[in-house]
Amino acid sequence: MDKKFRVFATCDIGPAIEELRKRGYEVEVYPHPEAPPKRLILEKVKSGIDGLITTLRDQIDADVFDAAKGKLKVVAQIAVGFDNINRADANKYKVPFTHTADVLTEATAEFAFFMMGSLARKMWSAEHLTRENQWSYWHPYLPFLGDEVTGKTVAVIGTGRIGLAFIKKCVGFDMNILCYDPAYENLAFVKTMQELADLRHARGLSREKAWIRYVQFEEALRQADFVSVHVPLLRPGESSTPTYHLFNERTLRMMKPTAYLVNTSRGPVIDEVALALALRENWIAGAALDVYEKEPLPADSPLRDPAIADRCRLLPHFASAARITRLSNDPDKGMAGRCVQGLIDVLEGNYGGDITKMPYVVNKEAFGG
Ligand code: NAD
Repeated sequence: MDKKFRVFATCDIGPAIEELRKRGYEVEVYPHPEAPPKRLILEKVKSGIDGLITTLRDQIDADVFDAAKGKLKVVAQIAVGFDNINRADANKYKVPFTHTADVLTEATAEFAFFMMGSLARKMWSAEHLTRENQWSYWHPYLPFLGDEVTGKTVAVIGTGRIGLAFIKKCVGFDMNILCYDPAYENLAFVKTMQELADLRHARGLSREKAWIRYVQFEEALRQADFVSVHVPLLRPGESSTPTYHLFNERTLRMMKPTAYLVNTSRGPVIDEVALALALRENWIAGAALDVYEKEPLPADSPLRDPAIADRCRLLPHFASAARITRLSNDPDKGMAGRCVQGLIDVLEGNYGGDITKMPYVVNKEAFGG
């Protein structure tokens, strides 16, 4: 390589950073676990770095691209979601940005599935009972019961990569599946899942014949026992079907009072004030959240109300937090590996330097893609 690239990482992404150093890159890593102040990111891009490695905690917008004065060549985000990066601004300044789709799909989908199960079967409350020495008898229904997942109906909101992976897990539990996605209905996938469900029934592996179909949003909410959300955060103006506050007072009231809501997508997809009210007033049976309107979850969040603690699971944006998924250097296995590869592709001009052909670049449209 004739040029030594300079990179600033807003967070330590693990051993994959060494791959860059081995290639002769000069890499500076922000050493603290918290996100750096924006002031520091601006300072770094002003200093003429070639690449910026970001996490979902960093606001990347016109301020950053403007400060870079044309020197910043790529932003490499270690996440599949990129709602923290202003795509219109990146396009205006013609800076490609990459993400780490696919490698976190199964980890996130299984976590959503586990959240659904642990919420419905009250595992958190049950363990507290044991730990706090309140487990004083075996009784048919005291002090509480949970709800089975097997054979129930689940609505999958957003049937992209993670939504489809989540559906695969639900088929193994003989669930009926209501799919909703206004942008793309993957009918071939649905057909395969129906064939799988039919085979399970034909071979005596499931008692009832399970089904899967696409429906409209309202029908999905009205019929489901569980609702799992797998959409990107799209604010009004960013899409004809924005997802900001998709779950609000009106739509939460459409759900059955016995239904559970699971969100591993992005916090602002749910109006948290409305959700806390829905839980307090029993419009729905429970919710399990991994993501929040503001992260980390503020101390005064209405979701922390002790009155709803038994029905509201709160996880710390943890769905992709599995060892290989997060840290593997292999771009086909780990977010860190894929993040670094996305950066290398742009800086080293892989794919003949054609950004539209680079698999991990998101905003290909700014380069004629
Ligand atoms: P994807 O782009 O493959 O799928 C998203 C799907 O949502 C698409 O099919 C899209 O058509 C659909 N969609 C868009 N607007 C919709 C709407 N209004 N209603 C219903 N569906 C709509 O993305 P993915 O890889 O499946 O990831 C989904 C999201 O999950 C990411 O954008 C990210 O925000 C989030 N995520 C969170 C974690 C975590 O740690 N909690 C991990 C990975 C991903």
